[in-house]
Amino acid sequence: MNRTPLIAGNWKMHGARSEAVVLARALTETIGRVSGREVVIAPPFTALDPVGQVIAGSQIRLGAQNVHWEPKGAYTGEISTAMLGEAGCTYVIIGHSERRQLFGEVDETVNRRLHAALRAELVPIVCVGETLAERDADATAAIIERQVASAFAGASSTQIAGCVIAYEPVWAIGTGCTATPGQAQEVHHAIRRQLVGLASDTTAGRVRILYGGSVKAANIDALMAEPDIDGALVGGASLDPAEFTRIVCYEETQG
Ligand code: PEP
Repeated sequence: MNRTPLIAGNWKMHGARSEAVVLARALTETIGRVSGREVVIAPPFTALDPVGQVIAGSQIRLGAQNVHWEPKGAYTGEISTAMLGEAGCTYVIIGHSERRQLFGEVDETVNRRLHAALRAELVPIVCVGETLAERDADATAAIIERQVASAFAGASSTQIAGCVIAYEPVWAIGTGCTATPGQAQEVHHAIRRQLVGLASDTTAGRVRILYGGSVKAANIDALMAEPDIDGALVGGASLDPAEFTRIVCYEETQG
């Protein structure tokens, strides 16, 4: 099944508005007209609006790094789906390992965020991944299966088909230590098999599964050659316009 590759840049807590606008302008120049793949950038909340204005009319889409599940209320420090929609977002990252590890995100809250995003017609990029200790204990398959099953609990096959999953081994994020294409493919393939059971063959064939964890210009081509790797969620390297441009313009080789 043909899946449009998706490369997403997670800027994390980098990019005051002026820096974010400069970066967005540079990317609009280089990859604003890219075809055959989708590009998403996820700046900090305060830069969503100005970055959205810079990329308007280009092929680059706007994503947020998190969202709360309630539509409004006394939730100090949180942001709603409507607020993200108003800022021009069409994608939202959910359950990033930094949220899970540093800010108490758990499977149940990932699931609530997913449903809120779906109700608001934002495309969720659901992050899953094992820690190094879990990999060393041979628990990778079980951890990923649990995270995927709980993230999508209560979602219909049609809803799942419109979601994106990012497999991001925690030990590879921001460490310079990438999973080998073979390691990533093995997990991606297992996720796709799980989706057959959770939804259907057709849905499993539609869901885009991104790899994340120290993706760089130097390793993207080999990763993208794997049959179940449909794109990348890029952290550090997405802040460098030349590097991110090269990642987006990865060379297609069939593995
Ligand atoms: C990420 O934050 O999702 C990520 C993959 O970061 P990095 O590319 O820096 O490892």
